[in-house]
Amino acid sequence: MRAFEQNDTVFRMLSEAISEGIVVVNEKQDIVATNKRADRLFRYEVGELEGKPLATIIPPKYHGVHREHVKGFYRHNEQKRMAEGRSLYGLRKTGEQFPLEVGLNPFTLPEGNYVLALVYDMTELRDKDSQIMELNAHLEEKIQLRTQELSNTVAELQKEIKRRKKAEALIKTALQREKELNELKTKFLSLVSHEFKTPLSGIMTSATLVGKYKTGEQQEKREKHLQTIFGEVKRLNSILNDFLSIERLDQGKEIYRKTHFSLSKVINEVVYNTNMILKSGQSINLPQNIDEVTLYQDEKILKLSLSNLLYNAAKYSPEDSEIDLEVELDESQIIFSVRDNGIGIPEKDQKHIFDRYFRAENVLLTQGTGIGLNIVRGHLNNLGGSIDFESELNVGSTFTITLPIKE
Ligand code: ADP
Repeated sequence: MRAFEQNDTVFRMLSEAISEGIVVVNEKQDIVATNKRADRLFRYEVGELEGKPLATIIPPKYHGVHREHVKGFYRHNEQKRMAEGRSLYGLRKTGEQFPLEVGLNPFTLPEGNYVLALVYDMTELRDKDSQIMELNAHLEEKIQLRTQELSNTVAELQKEIKRRKKAEALIKTALQREKELNELKTKFLSLVSHEFKTPLSGIMTSATLVGKYKTGEQQEKREKHLQTIFGEVKRLNSILNDFLSIERLDQGKEIYRKTHFSLSKVINEVVYNTNMILKSGQSINLPQNIDEVTLYQDEKILKLSLSNLLYNAAKYSPEDSEIDLEVELDESQIIFSVRDNGIGIPEKDQKHIFDRYFRAENVLLTQGTGIGLNIVRGHLNNLGGSIDFESELNVGSTFTITLPIKE
């Protein structure tokens, strides 16, 4: 306190009135004066720090940095707050360290330069800071937890929506199937009543007439009517078969059986059956190159397909017209084409020709169900084959079937 001997009382009065600690340091960085608050902060007896080096109250690990800092400070000689923005620590006599903030005020007396350091104890503030930080961290944790819970709920909800959509789609499909089945039933009933009427009345008429022809000379007439009955029964049978086929195809229950069989035998059989329904003057030109050909395929489906095409060719062609049946064969496949010179298919109807129940606008006065080609295509697709056609209105149509024949 000698440094302030002349003004000792004034210094004491001033320094003790201030709530911060005061440490005055000379150029050698020795402590030359402290107030009681500073002594208490650093846990020294009153006046005990005077004459001690400044380093006494600075933790050893900051000594170097601090010395340079103070030297620089003397050079610039201005008021300054130390360690703004970073942590500063003081060293108590007990060896304990505590956070502090320091305001530096340089001043000059005749005997030399001094720095008056105002020391603020930051322990409480730091505690509050860390409490706030802790609270913040806690809050953040809570927010994160809530956010997580929320996104879990959203995910759950999304899952539920997906599940419901799936269920809805299933129900829709089931409903659609139900609707289709109902439509099929209605269609079947109207088709049956419509399609069966004509053959049944034909059978009825022929049967009545057969009963009336009693004499031997009328044998030819009898046979003609019997043939009509036979043809009409066949037609009814094929309509029924078509319906049964649809059901089996739709349910994937059709069982295919591939065997080796003679191509000419199948063609003869199909053509023989078609001959029965040919109109007057119609004829079928047979393929020439099929002798001795053996195929490996589903014989029943081939017969069904060719019959369909030949029946249609006859049905949709006028009297006295020719139908050509051709066969092209290579190692892996066989191609059948049935060409007629009939009514053809209107351009706008062509894209629907394989749709179930579809019938072109120019055949509505001819009997038919619109099922045959749909079934044929279904079977051929299942066997790895295909069906196609070309047609010109009032000129004729050519239907082509391709089937694989490799074992
Ligand atoms: P359906 O002959 O019983 O009506 P299909 O499924 O066999 O049923 O044929 C569907 C439709 O295709 C027919 O109604 C007809 O409009 C058309 N069609 C099929 N073959 C021929 C053909 N050779 N000439 C003209 N139109 C045809």
